[in-house]
Parts: sequence; structure tokens; C-alpha cells
Amino acid sequence: MIYLDNAATTKPSKEALQSFNQVSETLFYNTASIHTGGRESARLLEAARGQILKELGMINHSLIFTSGATESNNIILRGMIERKLKFGKTVLVSELEHPSVVNVIEQYKDQINLKFIKTTQQGVVDLDDLKAKLDDDVILVSIMALNNIIGSVQPIEEIGRILKYYNKVYFHVDATQAVGKVKLNYSDVDALTLSAHKFYGVKGAGALIVKDMNVIDAILLGGGHEKGKRSGTVNLPAIVAMAKALRISNENLEEKNDRLEKLNDLVREHFNTYKKMKIQKKHSPYFINLSFVGAKGEIVVNALSELGLYVSTTSACTSKSNELNETLFAIGNRADVIEGSIRISFSQSTASEDVNALIKGLDTVYNQLGDILHEV
Ligand code: PMP
Repeated sequence: MIYLDNAATTKPSKEALQSFNQVSETLFYNTASIHTGGRESARLLEAARGQILKELGMINHSLIFTSGATESNNIILRGMIERKLKFGKTVLVSELEHPSVVNVIEQYKDQINLKFIKTTQQGVVDLDDLKAKLDDDVILVSIMALNNIIGSVQPIEEIGRILKYYNKVYFHVDATQAVGKVKLNYSDVDALTLSAHKFYGVKGAGALIVKDMNVIDAILLGGGHEKGKRSGTVNLPAIVAMAKALRISNENLEEKNDRLEKLNDLVREHFNTYKKMKIQKKHSPYFINLSFVGAKGEIVVNALSELGLYVSTTSACTSKSNELNETLFAIGNRADVIEGSIRISFSQSTASEDVNALIKGLDTVYNQLGDILHEV
């Protein structure tokens, strides 16, 4: 099997699993326990916290550990909307956001004024539209750092600079897909979310990073872990593994990305002249989104799966709904292009043999589908 669905989840690295096992065996204690084992575990927890903040260039921020990005998004978005409603009602999000952002905000639709910032044809937030929509009523802006469908990197630093002039606005960034793939400047971000399993850590660990801890309103109440902001016995093995995984994925990142860029280009060059296939523009080297025009993405994914190639429809999270994918729609794709689209997502260990097999597999399916396909 060749795994090319890394935007859905990655295989944990050997080093991350080693940390996970080691901590599970030797420091399995509750970090809130007072005995020596508990205190040693708490020290390790703080070391992991510091390492993650340092890796992200956010040492002046604070971090609470969560179960993943969905939880982090829920905590910060619910908390901020409820806190800020007395100051204004407008919430701005990009058209590209993940359901764990949009679905939370939509729960407040009767109380807020939700506006979507337009996307350019390049798949990035339209800054002119953002500026036009910014007024005294805006309380919250939420933008993902790297899109999970086409891999476009959003101008987070620039947005942070713009929002600095709006005191009332809280700036949240869902960096779930960006962390471990691209290094961005998050210094002006008020809150950032991430999930370990997207960068070769284990599942069940994530973080919410904030400028000011006081603004977090706990959703999980209980024994007071994480300074009372997220109760529940801390998943220390997964957290230590997350810190390790992040350090390793960030190591020599430019070289790794250059290598993936070449592999990504191989696929694009091979299919460049195929008239019944539409390949979305390249953004992050980890992503290829392409359409078998006239077919259903699901059929293509199943056919590739039969050949031992694991890819996904536009995203694992929206693949079960019948709605057209928001991102592909926002950048101006036709319905038949969106319906026939698949997402191929590389990892840092994707090899050239994997890509050769992918090209062969895509060719096989293209030929199998024959007359079902039509020209773009
Ligand atoms: N945000 C984005 C951009 C994502 O891609 C995902 C994972 N598909 C999430 C949030 C949710 O992450 P998790 O499932 O780890 O909570």
C-alpha cells in the first residue's frame, strides 16, 4: 500500500512512537500528582510545552494541551464569541475554513453577523475584501494558515499587521495543516490551533496557543489541569511525542520541501496535456488536487484504493456530505470539476517510487474511465 492521504492524518514517526512508548512505560503518572513521579511528569510536560512554543517561534505566547485541533477550535471560538458579543456582532472567516471552525461559529448564527472573506483565484484570502469588511462591529477573525484542500498558504503575517489597528478584533488561526510543513510568523496571532497527528505525532494530542491565557473559558471542567483551562488527566506520552514530532518535522524543512516540490512537479508534468483532467495550481509541495472531469471523485478514490494507492476525495471531513467542496468552489471551479476531484497529499517520507506508482495508477484509472470523462 502506498499512503498519499497525509492531510487526513500521518503515520507517526519512529521517533515519536519511541517517545510515546518510553513515557508510557517510565513516566505514566498523573502530572497533577504530588509524589516524585507526578512532579517528574509535570516537569516533562513543561519541557514539551516550551519546546513546542519555541519551534513555532511563539515563546511569548501560552499553550494549553488539548485532544486536537477540533477541541482547540471549539474552546477558543465558543469562548471568544460569548465574551465579545457585548462589543460587536460581526465575525469574519475565510471561505476556506474547516468544519471544526465554521460549524462552531454557525451555532451562534442567530446572535452574530457571520461574513465570509472572499478568496482570490490563487486560493488566498482577498486582503482588499478583508479590509472592506473590517469595521467597528468586528469582534473575531478566523483564518486557516494552510488550506487542507489545495494547500494554499494564507498571508497570516500580513493579516496580523492589518488587524493590529483594530483593538476589538481577536485573531484566530487554524494552523493544523501548516505546522510541520511551512514555517510562518505567528507573532501577531491571538490564538493558534494544531493537532499532533498531522505532523507525524500520535492521535489524541493537540494544542491551543494564546497570547493571553485569561481569555480562555474552559469547556471541560474538573480537576483543574492546564491551569483550570482544560481539565482531565494530561496525555503526557502523546504530548511528549508531539514535541518530538514537531522538532523532527521542522528539521531541514527547506531541503525536505524542495525534494517534495520535485516529486510534485513530476506528477503535474506527466498529466499536463491530459485534456480530461484538471490539475489545480501548485501551492504547498505536499498537495496535488486534480479532477477526473465527468467522473465522481469517490469512484476514482476507490479505483486507486484497489490498486493499493490511498488518496482522498476533496477532504476526509467533507467527503461524506453531498455539498460541493467550498475551497474548490471559492477559487472558481465548475461543479463537474469539483465532483471529480481527488486530493493527493504527500508526507516528508513520500519516495520517488511512491510517486512513480501514483502516476501509473492515475493513468490506469484515467484509461479505465474512458468515455465517462469529458474535456475540461
Ligand atoms: N483544521 C484543519 C484545517 C484540518 O485539516 C483538520 C483535520 N482534518 C482539523 C482542523 C481538525 O483536526 P483534528 O481532527 O485533529 O481535530
